[in-house]
Amino acid sequence: MAKLHIISNRLPFKVSEDESEFSLIESVGGLATGLSSVYKQLGGNWIGWAGISSENYNESQLEKIDYLLKKENCLSVHLTSHEIDYYYEGFSNNTIWPLFHYFAQYAEFNYEKWQVFKDVNQKFADAALEILEDGDTIWVNDYHLLLVPEMIKSKMPNVAIGFFLHIPFPSYEVFRLLPWRNELINGILGADLIGFHTFDYERHFISCVRRLIGYEINLNQIITDQRIILVDAFPMGIDYQKFADLSNNLNNQQGSEKSDFLLELERFSEIDPERKLVLSIDRLDYTKGIPNRLRAFSRFLEKYPEMIGKISLLFLAVPSRDQVSHYQLLKREVDELVGAINGLYGGINYTPIWYFYRSMPFNNLVELYFKSDIALVTPVRDGMNLVAKEYIASRANQDGVIILSEMAGVAKEMGEAIIINPNNEEEIADAIFTAANMPIEEQKTRISQLQKRLKRYDLFKWTSEFLKSIEKVKLLQQDFYAKKITAQLEDEIKKQFTNAAHSVLFLDYDGTLSSFKNNPSMAYPDEELKELVFGLTQTPNTTIVIISGRDKETLGDWFSNFKVNIIAEHGVWIREIGGDWEMPVFASKTWMDSIRPLLESFVDNTPGTFIEEKNFSLVWHFRKAEPEQGEGRALALKEELLNLIGNQNIEIMEGNKVIEVKNGGINKGFAANRFLLAHPADFIMAIGDDWTDEFMFKELPQTAITIKVGVKRTNANFKLESVASVRAFLRNLIS
Ligand code: UDP
Repeated sequence: MAKLHIISNRLPFKVSEDESEFSLIESVGGLATGLSSVYKQLGGNWIGWAGISSENYNESQLEKIDYLLKKENCLSVHLTSHEIDYYYEGFSNNTIWPLFHYFAQYAEFNYEKWQVFKDVNQKFADAALEILEDGDTIWVNDYHLLLVPEMIKSKMPNVAIGFFLHIPFPSYEVFRLLPWRNELINGILGADLIGFHTFDYERHFISCVRRLIGYEINLNQIITDQRIILVDAFPMGIDYQKFADLSNNLNNQQGSEKSDFLLELERFSEIDPERKLVLSIDRLDYTKGIPNRLRAFSRFLEKYPEMIGKISLLFLAVPSRDQVSHYQLLKREVDELVGAINGLYGGINYTPIWYFYRSMPFNNLVELYFKSDIALVTPVRDGMNLVAKEYIASRANQDGVIILSEMAGVAKEMGEAIIINPNNEEEIADAIFTAANMPIEEQKTRISQLQKRLKRYDLFKWTSEFLKSIEKVKLLQQDFYAKKITAQLEDEIKKQFTNAAHSVLFLDYDGTLSSFKNNPSMAYPDEELKELVFGLTQTPNTTIVIISGRDKETLGDWFSNFKVNIIAEHGVWIREIGGDWEMPVFASKTWMDSIRPLLESFVDNTPGTFIEEKNFSLVWHFRKAEPEQGEGRALALKEELLNLIGNQNIEIMEGNKVIEVKNGGINKGFAANRFLLAHPADFIMAIGDDWTDEFMFKELPQTAITIKVGVKRTNANFKLESVASVRAFLRNLIS
C-alpha cells in the first residue's frame, strides 16, 4: 500500500536520559501535532534528527534510542556535533534563516558549512530512500532540508514529494545574494508540490525560478522538461480546539481549581478592574522586532501619560540560540531597554514591563492568552506567527484586541487585527492606545470573526489541504504521462513507419530539433542534428519536411546540403527538394510599415528585446528581457496590436517568448495539408513544440501521428519530453 512519510530536521520526540535509561518526550509543536496522526494512519515513518550529538553515545546506547523511536515509527538520522555545528547552527540558522528573513547583513556565506549542509541533506535523503517505495508520498519540511526533494526525486521519480517551507521565501533581490542560489532552487524543484504560508512567498519563489532557472511558468505551475510542479499557499493553522477547550475550562473554573499563576494574573486586575494587560510572547530572535516593540511601548507611556499605572506589558522572551553573538547582543539590548523603561515609568505599585526570560509550560501559556486584554505581535519579519493565532483561539469570551505586524505571514489572514508597520513606533504607540480604549462590542465583532476563520482552517485542515494538493498534482502529471510515448508505443509507431509505402515527416525546428538559444541565430544545426537529418533523408520512401516559423534565408542556408523540403515563415514559403522558393498563396507585406513603429517602441522601452524581420512577418523577441517585464510587455503589445490591426487580415501569434505578426489564414496546418496534396502518404507524422504547431496537430488527417514536445496541453496525440528525446526517438525510428 502507498504510504505517507514525513521528513523534517527534528523528529516529533525528544530523547530524555535518566541514569542511562532513555525515554521519549513527545513534542507539542504545530508540525508534530498536525502530522503525527496522519503518517501513522497511512503506515509511514517520520525521518529526522533526535536532537542529540551521536558521539556522546556509544553504539548500544544509540541502538536503544533508535529502538524506542522505531516503536513510534520514527527513523533517526544521527548527526555528529561537527555536523550540527555546520549544517544546523551554521548554514541553516546563520545563512538561510537571516537571509530568508531579510537580515542579509547577518547571513554568513561559508563554503565549508555549505558543503556540510549538502552532505547532511544527502544523509537525510539516503535515510528516506532506504524505506521509500514507488508510489509512496513523502512530505519534506522546512529550510534545513531544501536539497532533499531533488536528492529523492533523482533516485525515485515515482515517489510523490511535497515540500513545505515554514519561513518566508524572500524576494529575488535578496535570494540572489546567496552564492548557492541555483543549487537551492533546483533542490526544492525536486518536489511535485511546493507549499508556502502566503501568496507573497509563493510569488517570490516563482520569480526566482523564472529568473534563475528559466522554466516556463503557467500561473502557479512550473513546467520543467520532465514534470509539472504545483506551487501554492497553505497558511498553517493551529490546533484551535485545544486552545479553545482549555480557555473555556479556565472560564468555568472556581477559586480553588485555579492555578497559582492564574490567581497571580487575576490579582493584577483586582487592584483596578480598568487596568489592562498587554501580552508579548516570542523567542528572543532578531526577526521578532522586540526592541522596536519595547521602544514603542515606552513611547506610548510618554505620549499618553494618563495610561501610566493603568497598563502593563507582560513580556515573555523564550531563550533561543543564545550561543550566537547576534542573539547575545539582542539579549543585552532587551535587558537594558526593559530596565530603562521600568526605571522611567515604574513606581512602588506599578511595573510597566513584567519581563520573563524563559519558556512557560503550556497551561500557563494559555492562561496568559486568556487573561491578556491586548496581544502585541510586532515581528519585523515572520513566516507565519502562531502566537497570534493561539491568542485568538484562547479568547473564550470573544473579547480582546490583537495588534499585528503587517510583516508576519499571519497578517494576511487576520484583517480584523489592528495592523501596524513594526518599524513605525509612533503607529504602534497609537495602536496600543486604540486597543486599550476599544469598545467591547467592537472587540467581540473582530475576535469572533477571527475565531470563525481560524477554527475552520485549523492545523488539521492545513494538513489535509496540503495532502489533497499532492493528489491533485499527481493527476495533473498523469495527464502528461497519459500521452507520453512509452517504449511499447515507440515500437508500434516504428512498425507502422517501416510497413508504410510512403511516409511524410513534418518536423518543426526550434524547440523540437534544436534547443532554444538566447540569440536565435546561434541555434544552427549541430553535428548530431546534421547526422540525424542526413540519416532521415537517406531512409527509403521517406519525405522530410522542415516546417518552421523561421525566415526562408536562414533555413535555406542551414539545410542547403540536405535533401529536405522546407516550409518557412509558418507556411508563407515552400522549397521542395531541388526546387526554388515559392509562395503558394499570395501574402501581403503592405501592412508591415504601419506595425513596425509600434514594435520598435516596445524594443525601446523593454531592454533585451529585439525585432526580427522576416519576408512576410515581424517578430518581437523577449527571451532575453527580464522575465516578468517581458511577459507584462508582451500582454501590453498584444493589446495595442489588436487595436492597430482592426479588421485587416493579419494575425498575432504567440510563440515561445515571441510575438509574431503575420498574414492571416496562413499557418503550419494549412501549409502541411497543402504539401500532402502533392505528396500523398500512408504514414504522416508531425512533431512540434509550440502554439504554432497546434495548427498541424489539429488540421492534419486523423490518421497522422502528432507529437508535442513538452508538458503543456495539446491537440497532439502524443508527447515527448525534450529536444533530446525527439532526437533519440527519430534515431530509433530509422535505426
Ligand atoms: N511557545 C512555547 N513555550 C513558550 C512560549 C511559546 O511552546 O514558553 C510556543 C507558542 O505556543 C507557539 C510557538 O512557541 O506555538 C512559537 O511559534 P511562532 O510561529 O509564533 O514563532 P517561531 O518561534 O516559530 O518563530
